[in-house]
Amino acid sequence: MLELSRERRRMVDVHLSRRGIHDREVLQAMQEVPREAFVDPGFEEFAYEDGPLPIAEGQTISQPYIVAFMLEMAGIGRGDQVLEVGTGSGYAAAVMSRIVDHVYTIERHADLAEAARRRFEKLGYGNITVRTGDGTKGWPEAAPFDAIVVAASGPGAPLALQQQLDVGGSLVIPVGEDPEEQRLLKVVRTGASTYSEEEFGAVRFVPLIGEEGWREGGRSGASHASRLPRSPSLPQMIAAAAEPLPEFDHPSFAKAFDRFADRRVVLLGEASHGTSEFYRARAWITRRLIEEHGFTIVAAEADWPDAAAVDRYVRHRQASPRATQPFQRFPTWMWRNAEFAAFVEWLRGHNERVKAPGGQAAFYGLDIYNMRGSIAAVLEYLDRVDPEAAGIARERYGCLTPWQHEPSTYGRAALTRGYRECEEAVLKQCRDMLARQSDDASQDGEELFDAAQNARLIASAEHYYRTMYYGGAQSWNLRDTHMFETLQHLLEARSPDAKAVVWAHNSHIGDARFTQMGIVRDEVNIGQLCRQRFGEEVALIGFGTHSGTVAAAKDWDGEMEVMSVRPSREDSYERLCHDASVARFLLALAADPALRDRLIERRLERFIGVIYRPETELHSHYAEASLARQFDAFVWFDETTAVTPLGPEHVASGVPDTYPFGV
Ligand code: SAM
Repeated sequence: MLELSRERRRMVDVHLSRRGIHDREVLQAMQEVPREAFVDPGFEEFAYEDGPLPIAEGQTISQPYIVAFMLEMAGIGRGDQVLEVGTGSGYAAAVMSRIVDHVYTIERHADLAEAARRRFEKLGYGNITVRTGDGTKGWPEAAPFDAIVVAASGPGAPLALQQQLDVGGSLVIPVGEDPEEQRLLKVVRTGASTYSEEEFGAVRFVPLIGEEGWREGGRSGASHASRLPRSPSLPQMIAAAAEPLPEFDHPSFAKAFDRFADRRVVLLGEASHGTSEFYRARAWITRRLIEEHGFTIVAAEADWPDAAAVDRYVRHRQASPRATQPFQRFPTWMWRNAEFAAFVEWLRGHNERVKAPGGQAAFYGLDIYNMRGSIAAVLEYLDRVDPEAAGIARERYGCLTPWQHEPSTYGRAALTRGYRECEEAVLKQCRDMLARQSDDASQDGEELFDAAQNARLIASAEHYYRTMYYGGAQSWNLRDTHMFETLQHLLEARSPDAKAVVWAHNSHIGDARFTQMGIVRDEVNIGQLCRQRFGEEVALIGFGTHSGTVAAAKDWDGEMEVMSVRPSREDSYERLCHDASVARFLLALAADPALRDRLIERRLERFIGVIYRPETELHSHYAEASLARQFDAFVWFDETTAVTPLGPEHVASGVPDTYPFGV
């Protein structure tokens, strides 16, 4: 037998604990039972992946997470007597046997029941009794049970099973007609003849075949079941909870988001970097948060020095003498587009009307890519205020000079030629700038804050490009941590009660702990870090679409193209929203606990960045996530269009070439 205890530990940590299974006895039992002993020969190495695996008779051994989830829902504990319907491989019964007093388990296929019995014997699990039969009728001689767990999906909760529950006992069973998706139901016996029901997320199980289940051959007809009243489908539930959104310029569009106005930080996502509706929605929501609710910081997934040029313009400050056109680096359309330009003009106009000191709203970039722009900004500042210090800084940053134009190649050089000295140099410079900032914060505040932030950025960027060479989570985490820390500096620098709106891609904003990036790759993001730091004072709002067009490139540094977005996959969250048949809506996830529960179960979610490759969409753009845990709300536009780019990719006529200001 393979030694797989490490993989087992990892499964418990990554697939169970981190996904919200808290019951310590369940976690401990799953840590103890060797799942590899329950899979068919040849499948042992996959035993600790979080998926179902095939066993004999066309059946499956259930996914570990679902086993844990059902046992947690059933609330099993020491001293209990438990019935399982659908022994299958025997794995779930084995896990339960490590917690409870005795497990009774029924399987309709005699060979499966026999194989499971042999496994229990071999492992020395003596408190399990197996029999072959129709589990929908229960095991009357051993009743009452503290819990009954059914591992196959029926048309409803069989009456016989409900009647064999002890008072206070729970029956957990997947129910529903759709072979692709059923819902998990928990029935609690509250008295001699009273029961309560609660529904949990969507699941997929093999059918429960029997007298109070389905007929042999499929789910098309219940044989003799106590049918539950038909529950609405998930798209129907979404449609019922969805708050339709009017046109952007209609006052009630942005007003719908007033419920988040008391938060300190509102993070607005996007499912692509090139969709007009996402930009316009964020702009209109932000306008209202600024005008009506005292938000004064807009912090975007944009480069700091470039955003600083926009900030000077919107706050009517003098352009920097080194000013060049901002956002010239790939992907230019991400900020050089008509939608963003309209917001910039509005913000400038708004700030002109603001009379209260400190009441103007500022625009900042949280990202670290324009290292060259940041170096120029630090040097320009020091040249002006302290030429001697500028000389030292020039020498220190000189170390990075060869890579300023192509920083992504720096990592390789740092590895092969011992360029660690650059790290020393940029950190020294960063410390000097921060010391300067704390020494004379009174004079020259904005300019010095900008220069110090650039110095911080260069230090982060040096580290980022060095680690990028290795790939993996470290460089992503560095970038998102830098973005989060920058946001914190902005809030602190502004005032103790300052409020910020953040614009970034869904992959940065949706809490990473509930996505594949966090669960599998240990990546963190700004949404997660904000929640961990600010708790309830944060709103994470994701955006999504079904189909339409998007501005994106096929490769990094490639030409921008307007591409068709493929209709969303059938197994995605996007398809559920599309099937709700509401063209554009806001879904406040916390407001509807029943829907929230059903949107917790992991599904595919689409992520289009500046690169879009429709031909490999599943692998390059979809990842599993738990929508309801990732976001507080989700904004939906069923059909979307590409942003209108400005500048070199200019496609619209009549937009001034000098955007955003004639420098
Ligand atoms: N708990 C199992 C494990 O850990 O391997 C997985 C069970 S598998 C998903 C469902 C099982 O339910 C199948 O083995 C199927 O034969 C069995 N089944 C379906 N209808 C049944 C019924 N009426 N009575 C007993 N077993 C049934």
